[in-house]
Amino acid sequence: MLIKKAEIATVAVAPAQYPKDGLPEIALCGRSNVGKSSLINTLVNRRGLARTSSVPGKTRTINFFNINDALYLVDLPGYGYAKVSKEEKLKWGKMIEDYLNHREELRLVVLLVDIRHNPTADDKIMYDWMKNSGCKIVVVATKADKLSKNQLYKNIAMIKKELQLSQDDVFIPFSSETRQGKDELLAEIEKCCL
Ligand code: GDP
Repeated sequence: MLIKKAEIATVAVAPAQYPKDGLPEIALCGRSNVGKSSLINTLVNRRGLARTSSVPGKTRTINFFNINDALYLVDLPGYGYAKVSKEEKLKWGKMIEDYLNHREELRLVVLLVDIRHNPTADDKIMYDWMKNSGCKIVVVATKADKLSKNQLYKNIAMIKKELQLSQDDVFIPFSSETRQGKDELLAEIEKCCL
């Protein structure tokens, strides 16, 4: 997929603010600081489109990026940031749930996990929950450039086992530094929007 247009279309805190034009949507979710903003910028070849933050846990909105007037990349708020109140965490959870549970335009959920670590309890909850709700899922393991090849294979096996991925789940090691996995992920996105 050749990306000619990528721009922020809507910043939403409630379903009433979601786009109404019915374009297919690809949602991206993962824990705070996993590399979601970097991945979006890498996918669309634009450094500052999604804001990468040195302060994790800042994004409290659902951001819709219009891609080629053909689909939306939907940046869901990062979860699992320790330094926020319980009340704030519940609010984020509800925002993510409201979107994932009820959005008819949703075609694919991209779950981001850090390739260096075991999936967190939140990652597992997200994966199980999405699986049960019947969403099509691609698991992307970020920051692949940070591991040696040997370690990479070990960790891929570890993550697959820990999340109990099924055969039909697509798993993509990804790096915003080297762009590894970019074409593969774009191809998966394109497939879901045809
Ligand atoms: P977000 O909170 O999920 O949006 O995460 P960011 O995209 O802001 O990234 C968090 C931190 O991880 C930043 O310091 C990024 O530079 C770094 N980072 C993100 N992706 C990669 C990657 O693929 N490779 C490396 N080496 N660092 C990354």
